[in-house]
Amino acid sequence: MTANNSQATRELSNGTAIPVFGLGVWQAADGPETEQSVEWALELGYRLIDTAQAYQNEASVGRAIRNSGVPREEIFLTTKFYPGNEDPRAEAEKSLERLGTDYLDLYLIHWPQSGPTWAWPGMEAAVEAGLTKGIGISNFSAAEIQELSKISQIQPAVNQIQFSPFEYRAGLVEACEAAGIVAQAYSPLGTGRHLDDPVVARIASATDHTPAQVLIRWAIQKGLSVIPKSVHRERIVENFAVFDFELDAEAVAALDALDTTNQTAEALANKWWS
Ligand code: NDP
Repeated sequence: MTANNSQATRELSNGTAIPVFGLGVWQAADGPETEQSVEWALELGYRLIDTAQAYQNEASVGRAIRNSGVPREEIFLTTKFYPGNEDPRAEAEKSLERLGTDYLDLYLIHWPQSGPTWAWPGMEAAVEAGLTKGIGISNFSAAEIQELSKISQIQPAVNQIQFSPFEYRAGLVEACEAAGIVAQAYSPLGTGRHLDDPVVARIASATDHTPAQVLIRWAIQKGLSVIPKSVHRERIVENFAVFDFELDAEAVAALDALDTTNQTAEALANKWWS
Protein backbone atom coordinates (compact mmCIF):
# COMPACT_ATOMS: atom_id res chain seq x y z
CA MET A 1 0.00 0.00 0.00
CA THR A 2 1.29 3.44 -0.89
CA ALA A 3 -0.34 6.46 0.67
CA ASN A 4 -0.49 9.65 -1.36
CA ASN A 5 -2.91 11.45 0.88
CA SER A 6 -2.03 13.02 4.21
CA GLN A 7 -5.31 11.82 5.71
CA ALA A 8 -4.84 8.18 4.56
CA THR A 9 -5.84 5.53 7.07
CA ARG A 10 -5.60 1.78 7.56
CA GLU A 11 -8.53 -0.24 8.78
CA LEU A 12 -8.02 -2.02 12.09
CA SER A 13 -9.45 -5.39 13.11
CA ASN A 14 -11.92 -3.66 15.45
CA GLY A 15 -13.41 -1.76 12.48
CA THR A 16 -11.88 1.66 13.27
CA ALA A 17 -9.44 3.46 10.96
CA ILE A 18 -5.95 4.49 12.07
CA PRO A 19 -4.19 7.38 10.30
CA VAL A 20 -0.99 6.33 8.55
CA PHE A 21 0.70 9.41 9.99
CA GLY A 22 0.76 11.02 13.43
CA LEU A 23 2.72 12.79 16.16
CA GLY A 24 4.65 11.01 18.92
CA VAL A 25 5.32 12.81 22.19
CA TRP A 26 7.92 10.68 24.00
CA GLN A 27 10.44 13.01 25.67
CA ALA A 28 8.23 16.05 25.09
CA ALA A 29 8.11 17.77 28.47
CA ASP A 30 4.82 17.94 30.30
CA GLY A 31 3.46 21.50 30.13
CA PRO A 32 3.97 24.07 27.36
CA GLU A 33 6.36 21.95 25.25
CA THR A 34 3.89 19.08 24.79
CA GLU A 35 0.86 21.35 24.64
CA GLN A 36 2.39 23.56 21.97
CA SER A 37 3.59 20.69 19.76
CA VAL A 38 0.25 18.86 19.88
CA GLU A 39 -1.63 22.10 19.13
CA TRP A 40 0.64 22.88 16.17
CA ALA A 41 0.24 19.35 14.86
CA LEU A 42 -3.55 19.42 15.07
CA GLU A 43 -3.67 22.87 13.48
CA LEU A 44 -1.53 21.56 10.59
CA GLY A 45 -3.82 18.57 10.01
CA TYR A 46 -2.25 15.77 12.06
CA ARG A 47 -5.06 13.55 13.37
CA LEU A 48 -3.15 10.89 15.35
CA ILE A 49 -1.45 11.61 18.69
CA ASP A 50 0.65 8.94 20.42
CA THR A 51 1.30 9.27 24.15
CA ALA A 52 1.81 6.84 27.05
CA GLN A 53 1.36 6.63 30.79
CA ALA A 54 5.16 6.42 31.06
CA TYR A 55 5.66 9.72 29.18
CA GLN A 56 3.93 11.65 31.98
CA ASN A 57 2.47 14.18 29.57
CA GLU A 58 -1.09 12.91 29.10
CA ALA A 59 -2.60 15.95 30.86
CA SER A 60 -0.80 18.28 28.43
CA VAL A 61 -1.94 16.21 25.44
CA GLY A 62 -5.52 16.44 26.71
CA ARG A 63 -5.33 20.22 27.18
CA ALA A 64 -3.91 20.67 23.68
CA ILE A 65 -6.71 18.57 22.16
CA ARG A 66 -9.34 20.68 23.92
CA ASN A 67 -7.61 23.98 23.03
CA SER A 68 -7.22 22.96 19.39
CA GLY A 69 -10.93 23.20 18.67
CA VAL A 70 -10.67 19.99 16.61
CA PRO A 71 -13.60 17.74 17.57
CA ARG A 72 -12.46 14.83 19.72
CA GLU A 73 -14.03 12.30 17.34
CA GLU A 74 -11.81 13.54 14.49
CA ILE A 75 -8.67 12.69 16.48
CA PHE A 76 -7.16 9.22 16.89
CA LEU A 77 -5.73 9.16 20.40
CA THR A 78 -3.39 6.42 21.61
CA THR A 79 -2.00 5.86 25.07
CA LYS A 80 -0.12 2.90 26.53
CA PHE A 81 -0.42 0.81 29.67
CA TYR A 82 2.74 1.01 31.77
CA PRO A 83 3.36 -2.69 32.53
CA GLY A 84 5.06 -1.97 35.86
CA ASN A 85 1.51 -1.44 37.11
CA GLU A 86 -0.95 -4.27 37.65
CA ASP A 87 -4.39 -3.42 36.32
CA PRO A 88 -4.71 -2.16 32.73
CA ARG A 89 -8.39 -1.31 33.15
CA ALA A 90 -7.87 0.78 36.30
CA GLU A 91 -4.87 2.54 34.69
CA ALA A 92 -6.97 3.31 31.58
CA GLU A 93 -9.48 5.10 33.80
CA LYS A 94 -6.66 7.21 35.27
CA SER A 95 -5.35 7.99 31.76
CA LEU A 96 -8.82 9.17 30.71
CA GLU A 97 -8.96 11.48 33.72
CA ARG A 98 -5.55 12.95 32.92
CA LEU A 99 -6.44 13.28 29.22
CA GLY A 100 -9.82 14.80 30.04
CA THR A 101 -11.64 12.64 27.54
CA ASP A 102 -14.06 9.77 27.89
CA TYR A 103 -12.54 7.26 25.50
CA LEU A 104 -9.29 6.19 23.90
CA ASP A 105 -9.03 5.14 20.27
CA LEU A 106 -6.19 2.76 21.06
CA TYR A 107 -4.65 1.41 24.27
CA LEU A 108 -1.40 -0.55 23.94
CA ILE A 109 0.61 -2.70 26.33
CA HIS A 110 3.80 -0.64 26.21
CA TRP A 111 6.11 -3.66 26.35
CA PRO A 112 5.76 -7.36 27.33
CA GLN A 113 7.33 -7.06 30.77
CA SER A 114 6.77 -10.28 32.81
CA GLY A 115 5.49 -12.05 29.67
CA PRO A 116 3.15 -11.35 26.76
CA THR A 117 -0.19 -12.65 28.15
CA TRP A 118 -0.88 -11.60 31.78
CA ALA A 119 -2.05 -8.06 31.04
CA TRP A 120 -4.33 -8.94 28.12
CA PRO A 121 -7.51 -9.84 30.08
CA GLY A 122 -7.27 -6.41 31.76
CA MET A 123 -6.88 -4.78 28.33
CA GLU A 124 -9.98 -6.64 27.14
CA ALA A 125 -11.80 -5.45 30.27
CA ALA A 126 -10.96 -1.85 29.26
CA VAL A 127 -12.72 -2.43 25.92
CA GLU A 128 -15.71 -4.06 27.60
CA ALA A 129 -16.00 -1.08 29.97
CA GLY A 130 -16.07 1.29 26.99
CA LEU A 131 -12.80 3.00 27.99
CA THR A 132 -11.14 2.35 24.63
CA LYS A 133 -12.25 1.42 21.15
CA GLY A 134 -9.19 -0.65 20.37
CA ILE A 135 -6.41 -2.49 22.16
CA GLY A 136 -3.01 -3.55 20.99
CA ILE A 137 0.59 -4.23 21.85
CA SER A 138 4.01 -2.67 21.48
CA ASN A 139 7.48 -4.19 21.35
CA PHE A 140 6.02 -7.71 20.91
CA SER A 141 8.01 -10.18 18.77
CA ALA A 142 6.44 -12.67 16.34
CA ALA A 143 6.77 -15.42 18.99
CA GLU A 144 5.09 -13.23 21.61
CA ILE A 145 2.20 -12.49 19.20
CA GLN A 146 1.75 -16.26 18.81
CA GLU A 147 1.66 -16.78 22.58
CA LEU A 148 -0.86 -13.99 23.02
CA SER A 149 -3.12 -15.39 20.30
CA LYS A 150 -3.59 -18.55 22.39
CA ILE A 151 -5.39 -16.69 25.19
CA SER A 152 -6.93 -13.63 23.55
CA GLN A 153 -10.68 -13.15 23.10
CA ILE A 154 -10.09 -9.85 21.29
CA GLN A 155 -7.19 -9.84 18.82
CA PRO A 156 -4.66 -6.99 19.13
CA ALA A 157 -5.37 -4.32 16.52
CA VAL A 158 -1.84 -2.82 16.37
CA ASN A 159 1.76 -3.70 17.25
CA GLN A 160 3.83 -0.54 17.65
CA ILE A 161 7.46 -1.40 16.88
CA GLN A 162 10.88 0.14 16.40
CA PHE A 163 11.10 0.41 12.62
CA SER A 164 13.34 2.32 10.23
CA PRO A 165 15.67 1.37 7.36
CA PHE A 166 18.29 0.59 10.00
CA GLU A 167 15.81 -1.51 12.01
CA TYR A 168 13.95 -3.05 9.09
CA ARG A 169 11.99 -5.72 10.99
CA ALA A 170 10.39 -7.23 7.89
CA GLY A 171 9.85 -10.62 9.54
CA LEU A 172 7.95 -8.99 12.37
CA VAL A 173 5.81 -6.87 10.03
CA GLU A 174 4.98 -10.04 8.08
CA ALA A 175 3.94 -11.82 11.29
CA CYS A 176 1.75 -8.83 12.22
CA GLU A 177 0.06 -8.80 8.81
CA ALA A 178 -0.52 -12.58 8.97
CA ALA A 179 -2.25 -12.10 12.34
CA GLY A 180 -4.41 -9.20 11.10
CA ILE A 181 -2.40 -6.69 13.17
CA VAL A 182 -1.43 -3.29 11.72
CA ALA A 183 2.24 -2.51 12.40
CA GLN A 184 3.06 1.03 13.50
CA ALA A 185 6.59 2.43 13.24
CA TYR A 186 8.06 4.17 16.27
CA SER A 187 11.42 5.99 16.20
CA PRO A 188 11.24 6.30 12.39
CA LEU A 189 14.15 8.77 12.56
CA GLY A 190 16.06 6.58 15.04
CA THR A 191 15.22 9.21 17.70
CA GLY A 192 17.19 11.56 15.44
CA ARG A 193 20.22 9.27 15.05
CA HIS A 194 19.54 8.24 11.44
CA LEU A 195 19.22 11.75 10.02
CA ASP A 196 22.93 12.17 9.25
CA ASP A 197 23.39 8.95 7.30
CA PRO A 198 25.05 9.55 3.89
CA VAL A 199 22.73 7.16 1.97
CA VAL A 200 19.69 8.90 3.42
CA ALA A 201 21.26 12.28 2.58
CA ARG A 202 21.94 11.23 -1.03
CA ILE A 203 18.33 10.12 -1.54
CA ALA A 204 17.06 13.27 0.16
CA SER A 205 19.00 15.44 -2.22
CA ALA A 206 18.01 13.36 -5.28
CA THR A 207 14.31 13.62 -4.39
CA ASP A 208 14.50 17.26 -3.30
CA HIS A 209 13.30 16.37 0.18
CA THR A 210 14.92 16.21 3.62
CA PRO A 211 16.46 13.19 5.38
CA ALA A 212 13.53 13.11 7.84
CA GLN A 213 11.04 13.09 4.97
CA VAL A 214 12.89 10.23 3.24
CA LEU A 215 12.88 8.09 6.41
CA ILE A 216 9.19 8.76 7.09
CA ARG A 217 8.22 8.16 3.46
CA TRP A 218 10.11 4.84 3.43
CA ALA A 219 8.11 3.58 6.43
CA ILE A 220 4.82 4.74 4.89
CA GLN A 221 5.67 2.94 1.63
CA LYS A 222 6.31 -0.23 3.68
CA GLY A 223 2.63 0.03 4.70
CA LEU A 224 3.10 1.09 8.31
CA SER A 225 1.48 3.86 10.30
CA VAL A 226 4.33 6.23 11.30
CA ILE A 227 4.61 8.55 14.33
CA PRO A 228 7.65 10.88 14.23
CA LYS A 229 8.15 13.18 17.22
CA SER A 230 9.18 16.82 17.18
CA VAL A 231 8.62 19.78 19.46
CA HIS A 232 9.65 22.28 16.76
CA ARG A 233 6.97 23.79 14.57
CA GLU A 234 9.05 23.82 11.37
CA ARG A 235 9.92 20.14 11.83
CA ILE A 236 6.29 19.25 12.58
CA VAL A 237 5.46 20.88 9.23
CA GLU A 238 8.37 19.17 7.44
CA ASN A 239 7.60 15.68 8.76
CA PHE A 240 4.01 15.86 7.50
CA ALA A 241 5.04 16.95 3.98
CA VAL A 242 5.65 13.40 2.77
CA PHE A 243 2.62 12.82 0.58
CA ASP A 244 3.87 14.71 -2.50
CA PHE A 245 6.59 12.27 -3.57
CA GLU A 246 7.38 8.60 -3.94
CA LEU A 247 10.66 6.77 -3.38
CA ASP A 248 11.44 4.70 -6.47
CA ALA A 249 12.54 1.06 -6.38
CA GLU A 250 16.24 1.97 -6.45
CA ALA A 251 15.91 4.34 -3.48
CA VAL A 252 13.84 1.82 -1.52
CA ALA A 253 16.42 -0.91 -2.18
CA ALA A 254 19.28 1.37 -1.04
CA LEU A 255 17.39 2.17 2.17
CA ASP A 256 16.46 -1.50 2.75
CA ALA A 257 20.17 -2.33 2.54
CA LEU A 258 20.86 -0.18 5.64
CA ASP A 259 19.12 -2.81 7.81
CA THR A 260 21.19 -4.05 10.75
CA THR A 261 18.60 -6.60 12.00
CA ASN A 262 18.67 -9.12 9.15
CA GLN A 263 14.96 -8.34 8.60
CA THR A 264 14.21 -9.89 11.94
CA ALA A 265 10.93 -11.03 13.50
CA GLU A 266 12.24 -9.90 16.90
CA ALA A 267 10.99 -6.61 18.33
CA LEU A 268 14.23 -5.25 19.80
CA ALA A 269 17.96 -5.98 19.91
CA ASN A 270 18.19 -4.89 23.55
CA LYS A 271 15.20 -5.07 25.89
CA TRP A 272 14.93 -2.57 28.75
CA TRP A 273 12.71 -4.86 30.85
CA SER A 274 12.84 -8.43 32.18
P1 NDP B 1 11.89 9.94 16.17
O1 NDP B 1 12.56 8.85 15.43
O2 NDP B 1 10.55 10.40 15.79
O3 NDP B 1 12.89 11.18 16.22
C1 NDP B 1 12.65 12.29 17.06
C2 NDP B 1 13.95 13.08 17.22
O4 NDP B 1 14.34 13.62 15.97
C3 NDP B 1 13.81 14.23 18.18
O5 NDP B 1 15.07 14.41 18.79
C4 NDP B 1 13.45 15.39 17.27
O6 NDP B 1 13.90 16.60 17.84
C5 NDP B 1 14.24 15.05 16.02
N1 NDP B 1 13.54 15.47 14.79
C6 NDP B 1 12.23 15.27 14.49
N2 NDP B 1 11.94 15.72 13.26
C7 NDP B 1 13.08 16.23 12.76
C8 NDP B 1 13.42 16.86 11.53
N3 NDP B 1 12.51 17.05 10.59
N4 NDP B 1 14.70 17.28 11.37
C9 NDP B 1 15.62 17.09 12.32
N5 NDP B 1 15.38 16.51 13.51
C10 NDP B 1 14.11 16.08 13.73
O7 NDP B 1 11.93 9.53 17.73
P2 NDP B 1 11.11 8.87 18.86
O8 NDP B 1 12.01 7.86 19.44
O9 NDP B 1 10.56 9.94 19.72
O10 NDP B 1 9.89 8.08 18.16
C11 NDP B 1 8.69 8.70 17.77
C12 NDP B 1 7.53 8.34 18.69
O11 NDP B 1 7.34 6.94 18.73
C13 NDP B 1 7.73 8.70 20.15
O12 NDP B 1 7.61 10.08 20.40
C14 NDP B 1 6.68 7.84 20.80
O13 NDP B 1 5.40 8.42 20.65
C15 NDP B 1 6.84 6.56 20.01
N6 NDP B 1 7.78 5.62 20.64
C16 NDP B 1 7.27 4.48 21.20
C17 NDP B 1 8.09 3.57 21.83
C18 NDP B 1 7.49 2.34 22.39
O14 NDP B 1 8.17 1.63 23.17
N7 NDP B 1 6.27 2.01 22.06
C19 NDP B 1 9.55 3.79 21.96
C20 NDP B 1 10.00 4.99 21.31
C21 NDP B 1 9.14 5.86 20.67
P3 NDP B 1 12.92 17.79 18.33
O15 NDP B 1 11.78 17.17 19.07
O16 NDP B 1 13.82 18.60 19.20
O17 NDP B 1 12.50 18.50 17.09
